[in-house]
Amino acid sequence: MPAGPHNLPEHDDLLAELYESSRAIGLRDCIDDLLDEVLDQAQRLIGAEHAALMLYDEDTDRLVTACLRGYGTRAGDLRHRTLALGEGLSGWAAWERKAVRVGDVRTDSRYLEGLAKARSNLAVPLVAGNQLAGVLNVESERTDAFSAEHERLLTVLGAQAALAIVACWVQRDLRTRINQMEAVNRISRLAGEGGAIGATLNSMLEIAQEIVPRAQCAILLLDPDKQVLRVAAGQGYQAVARYLEIPVGRGVTGRCVEAGETQVVMDLASEADELDYIQGIPGAISEVAVPLLADGRIIGVFNAESVQRAAFGEHEVQTLELVARQVASVVRSAQLLEETRRLAVTDPLTGLHNRRHFTRQLDENVRRSARYGERLALVLLDVDFFKTVNDRFGHHVGDRALQLLAGTLAEAVRETDQTARIGGEEFALLLLRCDRDLALSISERVRSQIRELVIDELPDVDMDLSASVGVAFFPDDGADPKTLMRVADDALYRAKRRGRDQVVLASELGGIG
Ligand code: GH3
Ligand code: MG
Ligand code: MG
Repeated sequence: MPAGPHNLPEHDDLLAELYESSRAIGLRDCIDDLLDEVLDQAQRLIGAEHAALMLYDEDTDRLVTACLRGYGTRAGDLRHRTLALGEGLSGWAAWERKAVRVGDVRTDSRYLEGLAKARSNLAVPLVAGNQLAGVLNVESERTDAFSAEHERLLTVLGAQAALAIVACWVQRDLRTRINQMEAVNRISRLAGEGGAIGATLNSMLEIAQEIVPRAQCAILLLDPDKQVLRVAAGQGYQAVARYLEIPVGRGVTGRCVEAGETQVVMDLASEADELDYIQGIPGAISEVAVPLLADGRIIGVFNAESVQRAAFGEHEVQTLELVARQVASVVRSAQLLEETRRLAVTDPLTGLHNRRHFTRQLDENVRRSARYGERLALVLLDVDFFKTVNDRFGHHVGDRALQLLAGTLAEAVRETDQTARIGGEEFALLLLRCDRDLALSISERVRSQIRELVIDELPDVDMDLSASVGVAFFPDDGADPKTLMRVADDALYRAKRRGRDQVVLASELGGIG
C-alpha cells in the first residue's frame, strides 16, 4: 500500500464539492436514508474506502454503530460495536468534541482495532449546538492517508450531518409526543362516554400501552379500610399478581400510595431489595406508579411496567399522569354510582336492605322459584311492645336494639338468603330453597336469640326483648308475592294474639286465631 493522502480535487472544485455534499445531506424523514447519504458523501469527498457512522445514545451514554461501509471481514462485528465516550479514537473524538487524525494507528494507544490492517484514521465528532449526535470515522490501510484538508472537509460535512440528525431526532420525538397526546385524547373521550366500568378501564389500559412501547399497564384500587391495593384491571398481569393484596408502603405501588406522589424506578433489579418489589409482569425492569386522586384522596394507583430499562422518560411520566387523571375520574364516578345504588337499597340504621328492595327481591325470587319448581319461605318478624323499650330506655337504646337485632338476623340466614328491615321494628327474611323444618328452625333460633340480646351500654339491664314471627311458604301458602306477604302477615298477627314471642306458620291458620 502506498503512503500519503488520498487525492483531493482541485481547490476551486473543493468548495463546490463540499457544497454538493452538504446539499445532498439536507433534511430527511428517515434517519437511515440520511446516514446512508452522509457516508456516501464522506466517501465521495475524501475517497475513503472504510467509513463508519456511530450515533450517540442518550439512555446508555454510549456510541452505537449505525451505518458502515467497507471494513472487509470485520464489518459484521463492527456493526454491533458500542463505545463509551472516551473509548477508542471515535470515543475520544466524541468526548473531546474534536476531530482526531492519526497517521499511523500502530503508534497511538487510543486506537481500538477496527479495520484489519488499519494504518490511518480520521474521526470527527458530529455536534449540533451543544448536542452530540455521533461520530464519523474513516480508516485506511495506508499510513498518513488523511490530510489536514481532509479533516477540515469532514468536519464541515460532520457539522451539516449533525444538524440533520438532530432534526430527525426532534421530528421523531415530536411524532411520539403527538401520538401520546392523541392517545390521551382518545382516553379522555372514553372517560366521557360513560360505558361499563370494566370495559372502559380495559380500553383505557390498551390505549395507555401505546404511549410507552412494550409497557404493560394496570389499575390498582385502594381498600381504605384494610389499607391494601388490589388489581382492578391489568391484562398483562400474572395471575398471582391479580389476586394479590398489596399493603400500603410495600412495593412500588404501595410506596406510591404512602408517598402520595408518582414513583419512577429506572432499574428494578438494582432497587428490588429496598423496594420489597412485587412483580406484576414477567421480566419487568422499569416501572412508574401514579396515584389516582379523587377529591384530594388517593383511591388507587395507575401502574406501568416495562421489560426495558429506563423505559419511562420525563414525557412518558407526564403523559401517564394525564392518563391517571382520566382513569381516576372514571373510577370515582363508578364508585359514586355504586354508592348511590347501595344507598338506594339500604336501610341507613341497620345496613339491611330496605322495604323497596326487599319487595323487588321477593318478586324476582318467587318468579325464579316458580320456574325451577322450588320452595321458598317468607318470614315476617315484629318486635313485641317495642314502644315500651323506647319509653323505658329512650329512643337511642331502641335504635341500638334494632341494630343488634338486624345483626342477629343477618347471621342466622344462609349466604343466598335475604334479610331486610321493612318497617320501624319489622323485619323480613327470604329463605330460598327452604323446607318447613329448616324455616322453622331458623325462625325459632332467631326468636330465642332476640330474647338473649344485651346492649353494650346497658349490660346489666334485662331488656326483655322478644319478637313475634309469621312464616309462609311459596307455593303452598300463596302463589304470588302479594298473597304470600298477606298470609305471612296474618300468621304474624296470630302470633301476637296468641301472646307474642312465638313463631306461627301460615299453614296453621285455619279458622279463628
Ligand atoms: P306490638 O308490636 O307488640 O304490638 O307492640 P309495639 O309497641 O311494637 O307496636 P307499635 O307498632 O304500636 O309500635 C312500634 C314502635 O316502634 C313505635 C315506634 O316508636 C317504634 N319505632 C319504630 N321505628 C323505630 C326506630 O327507628 N327507632 C326506635 N327507637 N323506635 C322505633
Ligand atoms: Mg309494628
Ligand atoms: Mg311491634
